[in-house]
Formats: sequence, structure tokens, C-alpha cells
Amino acid sequence: MEHSGRHALVTGGGTGIGLAIATALANAGAEVTITGRRADVLKAAAAATPRLHPVAVDVTDETALRDAIARAAEERGPVAICVANAGIAEGGRFRDVTMTDWRRTMSTNLDGAFVTFQVALATLGKADWGRMIAVSSIAGVRGLAGAVPYTASKHGLIGLIRALSEEHMGRAVTFNALCPGYVDTDIVTRNAAAIAARRGIPEAAAAADMARGNRHRTLLQVDEVAGAAMWLCSDAARSVNGQTIQVAGGQVA
Ligand code: NDP
Repeated sequence: MEHSGRHALVTGGGTGIGLAIATALANAGAEVTITGRRADVLKAAAAATPRLHPVAVDVTDETALRDAIARAAEERGPVAICVANAGIAEGGRFRDVTMTDWRRTMSTNLDGAFVTFQVALATLGKADWGRMIAVSSIAGVRGLAGAVPYTASKHGLIGLIRALSEEHMGRAVTFNALCPGYVDTDIVTRNAAAIAARRGIPEAAAAADMARGNRHRTLLQVDEVAGAAMWLCSDAARSVNGQTIQVAGGQVA
């Protein structure tokens, strides 16, 4: 029960990677606020695991997000562990990307993390312990063809944690980014369908292509990313700060 008595926040914590991290933290004793847009999904997740607290909020709604995190902190204490995980992954040709598409990706993946970290940090006192983790991507450390807005947003997250790690140097609060390769979640399933439709190939072939995109040519499982998050949250990782941790089957960049 390493995190007993701590309040953790995982945005996008009702599914996939976020749910795996939230569950691992709850199993380690933390009270975990999980957010997302779909209340029913969050409720079902919370019903399955003790210490998960569902809060339906859209990370692109700044006011609602600020209120929701502040209220969760009033109820469960300062946000000692904050995992900015909520994200969308939309692909397509660069020439077809509209400003609306670009803004949707930026406001979800990058602006959402900015607000999440800012409010979470404000709940902590100067001497408090903390772990701030952004779920970036291999697209945060290398360019991904066919996903320009996504790549830019995930690179932005790396800048965010690097700058914050410098600003808060000397505190017991660390800032790091997880950079997974292709993980077996709804995002990959949805993208396989979209790629299959775009290229006129079967979905299974599109999914196999994504698996080959990982260095070891295998889709990752969510527990591999959750394990890395738990290590970053551990006492042993107290001097790991401003880093990008690649979980991608091999060297990426
Ligand atoms: P999921 O689609 O399962 O997770 C995305 C989560 O984000 C969902 O719970 C979703 O909940 C939430 N979310 C999306 N938009 C919003 C929003 N506007 N407001 C609040 N919550 C939102 O896929 P993953 O678990 O794979 O993705 C989690 C993170 O991991 C993402 O940031 C993704 O970019 C990153 N990642 C994923 C990889 C993969 O291959 N799967 C690889 C590298 C990084 P809801 O829809 O209910 O709002």
C-alpha cells in the first residue's frame, strides 16, 4: 500500500492506459479520481475497483476542468499524483487537416494537460511530495507520418514536463513523460478501422501494420505502461525528473 492516503488524478482514467494506471494506483492504496467525458464508462470502472472516484468532465472545457479538479482536491486532498493521460489520436493527410481538426487535437492533448497540471500543482504546498506524469507517445520523440497534429501535441507535452521540471527543481515533485508505442486499446482499434477504410485494406491488416510499428513488432499491453507509471510514482524514482520514458519495444529516438 505504497500510496495509501494519497490522492491521485488520472484524466481519461475510465479506459485503456488511464484505467490501467488508475487501477494500479488504487491497488497501491491511493484514492484515485478518474475523469473522462462518458459518465457511464467511469461509473462502470469505479464499480469494478475500490478507491476509484468517477468525475465526468471534458478536458477541453477549461472552467469545468478547473472546478472539477479543485472539487476533487477538496474531497480527497492535494493531488499528489497527477497523470495527464486524456488524449485523442486522429490521423490523416496533412493537406486535409483543418484548423478545427488541429484545435481539437491541441485542446484535448496539450491544453487539457496544461490546465490539469496547473490546477493539480496549485493544490500542493511548497514542501509536498508529488509525481506529475504526462502520457505522451513515441510521437512525442519522433515524427509520425499521417499524424501531424498528434505528433505536434505529443511533442508539446514533452516541452511541458521539461519546463516544469526546471521550474520546480529542488522540490520533492517530479515531472516526467511516458512515451508508449502502439498499445492494444480503443485508440488502436479505432485507428485500425480508420486506416483500413482509408487504404481499402482489412482492419486486421491495419492493426498488424501498427504492431509492426513497434520496434519488437508486437502490440504493447496496458500493464506495461502502468508498470512504468508505478515506477515513476515510486520512491526509487525520486531523482528521475524531466525525462521521457519510452515503452516501445526498442529504441525509438
Ligand atoms: P483510450 O481511447 O482508451 O483513452 C483515451 C481516454 O481519454 C478515454 O478515457 C477518453 O474518455 C479520454 N478523453 C478523450 N478526450 C477527452 C476529453 N476531451 N475530455 C476528457 N477525457 C477525454 O486510448 P488509450 O488508453 O490508448 O489513450 C490514452 C493516452 O495514451 C492518450 O493520450 C494517447 O494519445 C496515449 N497513447 C496511446 C497509444 C496507443 O497506442 N494506444 C500510444 C501512445 C500514447 P472519454 O472518451 O469518455 O472522454
